[in-house]
Amino acid sequence: MESLKNKLIRFMTGRYGIDQLYYTGLFLALGLMMINMMVNSTILMVISNGLILLMVLRGFSRNISRRHMENEKFLKLWNPVKKEGRIFFRRIKEIRVHRYRKCPHCKKTLKLPIKRGKHMVKCPECKESFAVRVIV
Ligand SMILES: [Zn+2]
Repeated sequence: MESLKNKLIRFMTGRYGIDQLYYTGLFLALGLMMINMMVNSTILMVISNGLILLMVLRGFSRNISRRHMENEKFLKLWNPVKKEGRIFFRRIKEIRVHRYRKCPHCKKTLKLPIKRGKHMVKCPECKESFAVRVIV
């Protein structure tokens, strides 16, 4: 007799499985369900359940190249958002010791120690100097 684990492995062979879009879809559905607990709307329930069903069906899909392309498109949109979010939270975390300023020449974000008042900063990337003003 075959174990359940082996049956599952055989079932998932040649199928797409789980990716970043899957996790994001599930978290989004979970968030919608939490909102729905407060507003109790049928539309939100249908959307969140449909999203879960869609994500599960994606995982079982045999069209791996197409699912992979969907995930790539999603990551192209999601990665900049994720990066900005990470920078935002790091700025809050280090608000007592550092300030972040964008270099006007090369657009690179620089992490500067707090030095109140107006002073000149030399960018380590493009070696250009620019004025920085730290008020608080
Ligand atoms: Zn620069």
